[in-house]
Amino acid sequence: MKIPLLGMSLDELSKVVSEAGLPKFTAKQVADWIYKKKVTEIDGMTNLSKSARALLSEKYEVGVVMPVEKHVSADGTKKYIFPYDGKRFTEAVMIPDGDRRTLCVSSQAGCKMGCRFCMTGRQGFGGNMSVSRILSQYYGVDEKDGLTNTVFMGMGEPLDNYENVRKAIEVLVSDWGFAWSPKRITLSSIGVLPALKRFLDETKVHLAISLHDPFAGERLSLMPVQNKYPIGEVVALIRKYDFTGQRRVSFEYTMFSGVNDSLRHADAIVSMLRGIECRVNLIRFHQIPDSPLSPSPDKVMEMFRNRLSASGLTATIRASRGEDILAACGLLAGKAAQKENGLV
Ligand code: SF4
Repeated sequence: MKIPLLGMSLDELSKVVSEAGLPKFTAKQVADWIYKKKVTEIDGMTNLSKSARALLSEKYEVGVVMPVEKHVSADGTKKYIFPYDGKRFTEAVMIPDGDRRTLCVSSQAGCKMGCRFCMTGRQGFGGNMSVSRILSQYYGVDEKDGLTNTVFMGMGEPLDNYENVRKAIEVLVSDWGFAWSPKRITLSSIGVLPALKRFLDETKVHLAISLHDPFAGERLSLMPVQNKYPIGEVVALIRKYDFTGQRRVSFEYTMFSGVNDSLRHADAIVSMLRGIECRVNLIRFHQIPDSPLSPSPDKVMEMFRNRLSASGLTATIRASRGEDILAACGLLAGKAAQKENGLV
């Protein structure tokens, strides 16, 4: 098996070229080919000599993994299915919105966290995606040259694969990499505390925290993670950081009918987040099979939003996208896996 160059930092590429006996400046050329020109073969690096390319190809490959399926929604949302290990699949979703092209990427094949409302959680955990697999999602989509934003909000808990996600973010924001502003990137997490602290200290990208219920006991029944990393401690950590400048924090709140959509919940959110410069995104739940949870009616969501807004919180109802292609996290990859394993 060859080693992927995709995901290597400029320092790591410098080591690769020096070990191969190539001139130092080759590292910058290789980085340009992979991250700026997005070549997928070492042979495509045409300003490297033939012998340099042959030397590199002995041990290395670019390492892009391409999608095996694409589904296009009536509203323009596209879901791409990537192979993982022959049995499992991961997903990336491209969401168009005016001039924006946002890519929602996965960080793990499946997930350990077991949130009750999530199809990915039901599939269990299949492994951490490597840096090259995380970044492959930016190469395998039709919009690869026109992406404006990205969210780590697909399959998996990104802070449960922090080291690889941090390296992928480094490639996205570095001058030698994609050279994106950190303002174009948002990481969404249920609040894995030790890694969350590192993420806040080591990167400048935006943060979205999956809140979903302000009451500890109720949240635990939706999200087992509450046991290990209580939301109160997550919010206490966030309070220590400055979100009044370029960096933003938001709280994601999926609304389940009769479960977390009362005004009592809205008032508890207001108390919990008082003093934090943030936004609350109210998300319409995509019904998933065999679940007692159902979406809150629009009217209830509006009342909830109005209650938050009246208390001074910025709250928005997030438009639901790509419902006709099962854009809810994990649904399509689950189907692809069933097909692969002869279950449908
Ligand atoms: Fe994992 Fe996120 Fe699904 Fe929870 S919602 S099970 S953290 S993928």
